[in-house]
Amino acid sequence: MESLLYDAAIIGGGPAGLNAALMLGRARKNVIVIDEGLPRNRVTHESHGFLTRDGIKPDEFRRIAVEQIQAYPSVRFSADIAVDIAGADGDFTISTRRGDAYHAKKLLFAVGKKDRLPEIEGLTDVYGKSAFVCPYCDGWELRDRPLAVIAKGAGAHHFAKTISGWSDRIALCTDGPDELTEELRGELRVRGIPLYDAPIRRIVSADGLVSRIELQDGASVACTGIFFAPTLVPGSDLPQALGCELTPTGSVATFDTFGKSSVPGVYAAGDIATELYQLITAASMGAMAGAGINAELLAEAWEARGRAVRH
Ligand SMILES: Cc1cc2nc3c(=O)[nH]c(=O)nc-3n(C[C@H](O)[C@H](O)[C@H](O)COP(=O)(O)OP(=O)(O)OC[C@H]3O[C@@H](n4cnc5c(N)ncnc54)[C@H](O)[C@@H]3O)c2cc1C
Repeated sequence: MESLLYDAAIIGGGPAGLNAALMLGRARKNVIVIDEGLPRNRVTHESHGFLTRDGIKPDEFRRIAVEQIQAYPSVRFSADIAVDIAGADGDFTISTRRGDAYHAKKLLFAVGKKDRLPEIEGLTDVYGKSAFVCPYCDGWELRDRPLAVIAKGAGAHHFAKTISGWSDRIALCTDGPDELTEELRGELRVRGIPLYDAPIRRIVSADGLVSRIELQDGASVACTGIFFAPTLVPGSDLPQALGCELTPTGSVATFDTFGKSSVPGVYAAGDIATELYQLITAASMGAMAGAGINAELLAEAWEARGRAVRH
């Protein structure tokens, strides 16, 4: 076990955790970043929508970030998984899968979320190549193509409506009973969006490029791109285990713009604390959390110095 008491431990080294590390490193704080290295967007070849980095490969984005943070020697990285956290504000102990333990005054959860894919044969072959989850991330590359939207429940109509901004040629596959009202079905009909409610048999593709979706009723939906709705779960159970309040959608609830959670000394940033899933949003939340943690540390150090002078 390391005896050093870090100013902050950051769990997760995606854009949220890394931007927090950058802020804290520049603020001369001792930081440990513990990262398993499995960011949400790792299946994609390119990331989009991050100003000055549009089209960058996810690995390259991370390489540049880590290289720049390494200019600040008070930030350390550990390629490991945090498995347990004990203690409280001022002295948390983070235990890792490899058997290390780190002490830190403050804690930032930047653990992201994980996508649970619907169980459809062939989906993993096309995921990240011609099937995506977010039109802001990958819609431009699939613009004007024949697209299938795979989604269930009332949200399916909203998803199809959103994707209609990128292509006029879309079909909605609900992979079983559609659960839409007659009014919503009518909206799709008048806009020429076919609705397929038979269960999906399989997605047919070659080298990751989808060509059609086969349904169990024998129908076939020709398409060269797919948008689908995954189920999102927290990237780690640790925030909940530590007692952080969660929102109804499973995010860590935060109570100010700096990402303060319900547990003193604990912050959350990025996908784990929002439903706006974008790299730049995660990075900006990380930057704010870094500033918030630094402000709290500064206030505590200021008070401690004042007390020491008085006695
Ligand atoms: C297919 C796909 C494509 C996308 N494309 C884009 C795009 O083009 N543009 C865009 O803006 N957004 C895109 N996104 C969204 C983007 O990936 C996320 O919004 C962003 O990665 C969130 O950043 P984060 O730092 O919160 O979490 P992440 O990037 O997911 O990083 C979290 C990190 O924490 C680690 N971690 C989790 N638990 C632990 C633990 N216990 N111990 C140690 N480490 C842990 C994980 O391994 C991971 O490395 C895409 C998402 C998907 C699914």
